[in-house]
Amino acid sequence: MTQTRLILITALLFTLFSNLSFFTNVIEVYPFEGMNILYILSLALLLFTFMVFLFTLLSSRYTTKAILIMMLIISSFTSYFMDSYHVVIDSEMIRNSMQTDLAESLDLFSVEMILYLIILGIVPSFFIYKIELKIDSFKIEFFRKLKTILLSLLVIVLIVVSFSKFYTSFFREHKSLRYYTNPTYWIYSIGDYISKTLNSGEVIVKPIGLDANITTPNRPHKLVIMVVGEATRADHLSLNGYDKETNPLLKRENIINFPKFYSCGTSTAYSVPCMFSIYNRDDYSYKKGISTQNVLDVLDHTKKVSILWRDNNSNSKGVATRLTHQNFKTSENNTICDIECRDEGMLVGLDRYIKEQKDRDILIILHQMGNHGPAYYKRYPKSFEKFTPVCKTNQLEKCSKESINNAYDNALLYSDYFLSKSINFLKKYNNQFSTTLLYISDHGESLGENGIYLHGMPYFIAPNAQKHVGAFIWFGDNSHNDIDKEKEYSQDNLFHTLLGLFNVKTEVYQKEMDILR
Ligand SMILES: [Zn+2]
Repeated sequence: MTQTRLILITALLFTLFSNLSFFTNVIEVYPFEGMNILYILSLALLLFTFMVFLFTLLSSRYTTKAILIMMLIISSFTSYFMDSYHVVIDSEMIRNSMQTDLAESLDLFSVEMILYLIILGIVPSFFIYKIELKIDSFKIEFFRKLKTILLSLLVIVLIVVSFSKFYTSFFREHKSLRYYTNPTYWIYSIGDYISKTLNSGEVIVKPIGLDANITTPNRPHKLVIMVVGEATRADHLSLNGYDKETNPLLKRENIINFPKFYSCGTSTAYSVPCMFSIYNRDDYSYKKGISTQNVLDVLDHTKKVSILWRDNNSNSKGVATRLTHQNFKTSENNTICDIECRDEGMLVGLDRYIKEQKDRDILIILHQMGNHGPAYYKRYPKSFEKFTPVCKTNQLEKCSKESINNAYDNALLYSDYFLSKSINFLKKYNNQFSTTLLYISDHGESLGENGIYLHGMPYFIAPNAQKHVGAFIWFGDNSHNDIDKEKEYSQDNLFHTLLGLFNVKTEVYQKEMDILR
């Protein structure tokens, strides 16, 4: 078989079998009737031709088979995740998967995933591997490729010109539809990820707030626990009026709840560094985030605050790299582990840490496992299984809406317990310290509304469920009763609120961004 023919067949396979999500989304916008039928067929032809063009550009006697096989294998996974969870494989999703550990990956494992891998990945790859490629002389190969490239370009131009009105609407008004094409969009996303991530040379971290100081030492000293939550959408908290009681313990504490709090991104890898950074959501980028010091560094510049980051989620996503970071996902550090290490284990041993910090303010950050999906049923000990029946698979699309919600809400109940336990831990120190607990979830979560699950959608098309998050603050001395609770806040406020909380004087502090002022 010639390379061209192999490429044509593979492109056809991709168009027919790996783009279910794409065509489903297209048909939602352009119902399969009347002229739309013609448009959708032209779209399929366009996708096919574009792949032929792309694969031919990348082909050579030594690369064709390897590239096609790699694309088939990767696309079998992307197809699975797109078809089952309705996620989009953009550069942030690539960043998330690059930062995923084995435990998180195993959480996603399923029989269907293996079937996708075998049917869409391994079987066609096997045939490609076995096929004998007919390689002609350089001259013949060159002209054959040139012919294919020119012909496919011509077809692309012809299609777009003939249906120009449709394609204007498709590319301008429904920009998000092409996020679902496979394998073209993930290939683009890898390029996008690399350009957003890799620097030419070493990352130089720009210092900020070097003038930071606590001019009048805090008396009593501050003892602050900040909990970074995981995937807690605001509308599932009874604190925000959810009809199921998901906050039975927190409602008894004197907390100041923020019902209108919004995240910076829709994934952990984006939101966590963003919320601690000096940049607002509109200005933030991954590169800016890692190459600029964050609010914890500024607090550290005062030399009067001890900072400890404990992590039961993944890691600090670069936020605590210059500070003390402890991994609590392992039973070596975390003493409360059953099927997995529990968030409350992060409280063990804090008494000793606090005792060791002589005459200093203290900030402890606890990064929760929280409501990390899709295996919500694993996120809580059995005794928290109050809402039943529970979805006990990671294949959410197989479960009823009710059982997914139940599993998710039970995990919220466990977080409610962990957060109230953290508050009660702080109460012991009320006489010695000025105590505060601040809670903010990193992003929200989709639970099957419109077929969308999990999180990580590009911000501008992400549903509110992924952006509207749980957040509250608690003060041991009940101060700050004057906070405007009903105001809309976001993770942009954290940088300045933490500085204000410790009474830090610095040029980078903006009073109007501080929730407490
Ligand atoms: Zn997260």
